[in-house]
Amino acid sequence: MRILVTNDDGIHSAGLQALASAMTKLGEVWVVAPDRERTAVAHAVTLHKPLRVHAIGKRIYAVSGTPVDCVNLAVQRIMPKPPQLVVSGINRGVNLGDDVLYSGTVSAAVEGTILGVASMAVSQEGQGRFRFNVGAHYAVLVARLIMEEGLPEETLVNLNIPDRPLRSIVGVRVTALSRRRFDNPIIEKVDPHGRCYYWIAGTRLSWSRSKDSDHEAIAEGAVSLTPLRLDTTNYSALDRFRAWESILQARNRRSANHRLSPSVNHRKRRRQT
Ligand code: MN
Repeated sequence: MRILVTNDDGIHSAGLQALASAMTKLGEVWVVAPDRERTAVAHAVTLHKPLRVHAIGKRIYAVSGTPVDCVNLAVQRIMPKPPQLVVSGINRGVNLGDDVLYSGTVSAAVEGTILGVASMAVSQEGQGRFRFNVGAHYAVLVARLIMEEGLPEETLVNLNIPDRPLRSIVGVRVTALSRRRFDNPIIEKVDPHGRCYYWIAGTRLSWSRSKDSDHEAIAEGAVSLTPLRLDTTNYSALDRFRAWESILQARNRRSANHRLSPSVNHRKRRRQT
């Protein structure tokens, strides 16, 4: 089996190395990753400058682009045949709930899915030190099952591992994305020239507590496995929004009449003179 390993923390991150070496248990591993940290770039693609690829080892490449660039180049150019599995991580820090919208780690797996390859993102809880060996262990377990069972269409796996030694992990729980709230997310400071500048930061305050959420699983010491899909359409809201079609059409017609009316008035006025 051919496995592509990538990440958003950069080619030199310990999490990537732990993941790549663990994945050799399952097949031939190719590493194509950003040449520097590209955390929180989400699904960014580099369009306005050239991408450079440097081979820095056997089947190991550093790319001057984003995680999504890396997956694109690996699947469509660097690897002689496309991979059967894309694994992204192991990220320094969890990607839970709304994080998946910002995460470069998750976006790399999304890109793999778009390209038709079974894909998984792996993220490790921790503070300063990360137990990447624990994340790597579960990444291999889940990757093997993905290869055996396959994934539903347009679906990727978001795996998060709690900061616990292997023996005290309480199992794997299938979860849904949680919602998180941030406290004071913008920090405002003044530079030496007296001008304001900002840091987008903030501390995590809380999350929506529901028994089957990803955050709850991690808080209780379980590995969280969330199936994500590419299609973010809110199907249950379609009917409600369809009622807007006729409203918008009517308002559009009315505003078109308004646009016409000044010239109509103008003509009238001209006739009067
Ligand atoms: Mn990261």
